[in-house]
Amino acid sequence: MGAGHPECPERLDAIEDRLLITGVGDALSRQEAPEAPLADIELAHGRMHVAALRGLTDQLVEDRNAGGPTHTQLDPDTSMNAYTWRAALRASGAAIAATDAVMAGELENAFCAVRPPGHHACHDKAMGFCFFNNVAVAARYALERHGLQRVAIVDFDVHHGNGTEDILAGDDRVLMVSFFQHPLYPYSGTESPAPNMVNLPVPAYTKGMDIRELVEAAWIPRLEDFKPEMIFISAGFDAHREDDLGQLGMTEQDYAWITSRIKNVAQRHSKGRIVSCLEGGYNLSALARSVEAHIRVLADL
Ligand SMILES: [Zn+2]
Repeated sequence: MGAGHPECPERLDAIEDRLLITGVGDALSRQEAPEAPLADIELAHGRMHVAALRGLTDQLVEDRNAGGPTHTQLDPDTSMNAYTWRAALRASGAAIAATDAVMAGELENAFCAVRPPGHHACHDKAMGFCFFNNVAVAARYALERHGLQRVAIVDFDVHHGNGTEDILAGDDRVLMVSFFQHPLYPYSGTESPAPNMVNLPVPAYTKGMDIRELVEAAWIPRLEDFKPEMIFISAGFDAHREDDLGQLGMTEQDYAWITSRIKNVAQRHSKGRIVSCLEGGYNLSALARSVEAHIRVLADL
């Protein structure tokens, strides 16, 4: 994204370091992320969007080789360089590979430590640090390539997952439940566009305990009724009280609690199948601790 941007490579380093020093990493099985085939990206995105990003990448490579600009700005928050294309393909590829591994029973669940994030990426547009919508691609992949009938998406990032909503609103094979701070970027989500979207906008300074009550009252009954065959998580950790991109009061204990509630639903209806993909989370310490808490619950550690 360029120097000084919160969506920085150090985010993944912080997670890696935390898994190392706590020993959690030793208990995990790891896979490198392959690049997603374009045909799978196009399960969630228009062909023109994919072609435009590829064209910009070619231009960036030419510019770089000619000593020209290294970044191109797509919107005030979002820029890309010559490496963004492959990173974005691998972020979606991770979600797809995780889906395959979970569907094959090789793993009960998986966490994808990926950048760039995905949940603001719309069918035809990159925005909000996002290029391809990793979770929407994987959800469609599970439906189309594995023949599932119903998948759920849980989004606990502090920002509304407008891209996921753009792609999947009205697709009744998908139930999406989320909470997010409102008003806050991208200032959407207060009017539910379709019955398969359960949006819970909450004001700044809402505490974790209040969010837990909302989750219990509004998410869990809908998830139980829907009986998803697989659950995808847009796991953003920027609702943490130490994260300056939002003003919510979540702690790592709250993330552990939410994860255990999701896991409980998955065990009852989805054979435990969960694929969780990193979205936001910009305070490096809070991000690392929250991911650890999330993974400990997923992996029973
Ligand atoms: Zn976010």
